[in-house]
Amino acid sequence: MRPVPQRFSARAAELDDADPLRSYRELFVDAPSVVSYLDGNSLGRPTRAGAERVARFVTEDWGGRLIRGWDEEWFDLPLTIGDDLARVVLGAGPGQTAVGDSTTVLLYKLARGGIATRPGRNEIVLDTDNFPTDRYVLEAIASELGMTLRWIESDPRSGVHANEVAATVGERTALVVLSHVAYRSGYLADAATITRVVHGAGALMLWDLCHSVGSVPIELDDWGVDLAVGCTYKYLNGGPGSPAFAYVRAGLLEEFVQPIWGWMGREDVFEMAPGYRPARGIRRILSGTPAVLGMIAMREMLELIERAGIGAIREKSVRLTEFALDLVAESLVPLGVRVATPADADLRGGHVTIDHPHFRAATPALWERGVIPDFRAPEGLRLGLSPLSTSFAEVVVGVEAIRAELAAGC
Ligand SMILES: *Cc1c(COP(=O)(O)O)cnc(C)c1O
Repeated sequence: MRPVPQRFSARAAELDDADPLRSYRELFVDAPSVVSYLDGNSLGRPTRAGAERVARFVTEDWGGRLIRGWDEEWFDLPLTIGDDLARVVLGAGPGQTAVGDSTTVLLYKLARGGIATRPGRNEIVLDTDNFPTDRYVLEAIASELGMTLRWIESDPRSGVHANEVAATVGERTALVVLSHVAYRSGYLADAATITRVVHGAGALMLWDLCHSVGSVPIELDDWGVDLAVGCTYKYLNGGPGSPAFAYVRAGLLEEFVQPIWGWMGREDVFEMAPGYRPARGIRRILSGTPAVLGMIAMREMLELIERAGIGAIREKSVRLTEFALDLVAESLVPLGVRVATPADADLRGGHVTIDHPHFRAATPALWERGVIPDFRAPEGLRLGLSPLSTSFAEVVVGVEAIRAELAAGC
């Protein structure tokens, strides 16, 4: 079996030298046991500034301000960070985005709140290859409300296309829920066109942005998106379990009421008054006390993204996935590996997925060597190439290790 050709290492060195964002890699915490981190799309690395900020938060903010912190800053933090997110990575104006809960819970709140604004319509459109939590949440809502799920049979090697959506939506459709970048294949959906198609049927569009936010440019306001949800621990490096975000289009907010009525989302929170009245604006998406500690690290990452610019980040992301696909074609395809990610850069997000029956067994051995992709059943290996923290040289190291594992196990 041939090793990864020398020219790929030389090419990686050239690409790293020419990378205008190369200095950003030093701004992340080192992991001495890791030689190739290919999972920044599942759990982004901590920034050094974020690590310091979290430590300082404990001693100075929490430790020093104690309960006063709520009045001084924390109470509005879900909305102030929400506005930062909107400006830096969502292409959205202020007052439409809030941070809190998990993606799963926010998806439930957004879907229920959205459906309630479309009375008389009893269908939800989704696709068979969407992330499990999205499918389960919508199954639960359909059973709770007596609605019908209309499934688009999506191709796991690609994703959902506008013509498939057009063929599925109709006058009974209340809501369409899709992922912007497919978690498995990395397929990048045409969000602007699909949103138009959905609106043409009078339905609402809810985008799950978990695998696109922070790596792919997003223009929620321009696309006319109604609702969106996404994770902050993937390309936004907020840390394990950092709270998710929800976007509700300004024009929809006044009639939008989510189903988890809690005190933090009520008008005049501290009046403790009888009866629930949703707060004005996006605060109404909140339910209970926000996870302040979990929001600290993502701020530093947002600053890095703002400084680098999402356009430059996307350019590097495309170069990284292109390079990874070239390497895979050269050294893994001859070993029986199949590519499950679109070859056209315009149709792919920030990760590459490859399939081989041996990948399930090979993954623990790769992790042991400090090469960290993730395995996605039944036989996919996902190479997540988080643009600000991943070098081209790391891609070579990772693919070479995969080749060696396959060669040993074949
Ligand atoms: C990662 C991911 C989630 C995760 O949801 P949590 O509630 O944070 O566990 C949801 N949807 C998609 C598409 C994802 O990729």
